[in-house]
Amino acid sequence: MTFCRAMTMSAPRLDLSPTLWQSMVAHLRRQGAGVRESGGFFLGETRPERRVATRFLPYEQLQRDALNADFVQLSAASFGRLWDYCAQQKIGVVADVHTHRFGAGQSLSDSENPMVAIAGHIALIVPHFAQGSIRLPDVGLYVYQGAHRWQRFRGDAVVQVLTLREELRA
Ligand SMILES: [Zn+2]
Repeated sequence: MTFCRAMTMSAPRLDLSPTLWQSMVAHLRRQGAGVRESGGFFLGETRPERRVATRFLPYEQLQRDALNADFVQLSAASFGRLWDYCAQQKIGVVADVHTHRFGAGQSLSDSENPMVAIAGHIALIVPHFAQGSIRLPDVGLYVYQGAHRWQRFRGDAVVQVLTLREELRA
């Protein structure tokens, strides 16, 4: 039985503290200033049944001009810095997040160019450049399946994957 369970990939789950969530939204709101996309990586630990985000790394900290184009772009060198940082800190990328001007649907570019092209990777999209009040059902949550396919969670389904846990507060 244990063998069977180990062979079945459990649904990806992502946990983070409400404080980390709020500070991420506030950062993206400030950085985008209502006029441009902004984003970053959630870093943390991968446990057998869930990932736990412990910090947020904004894209502009990896690459100063990451937000200058119409959409967020990271160079290969920036990914090199990201992997070095993760190795030093003994943490990993547990999700990425970026904002859109309007809704929380994926663009063609988003679906064709996952930030981390590994099945199970979680990508979040925050609508309205993170302006105003952003609740979990407002965001789009996408789980990469490989081969440019994604499982989509929208509205109330977002909480099937993403949980804000008070006890994770540092
Ligand atoms: Zn996008």
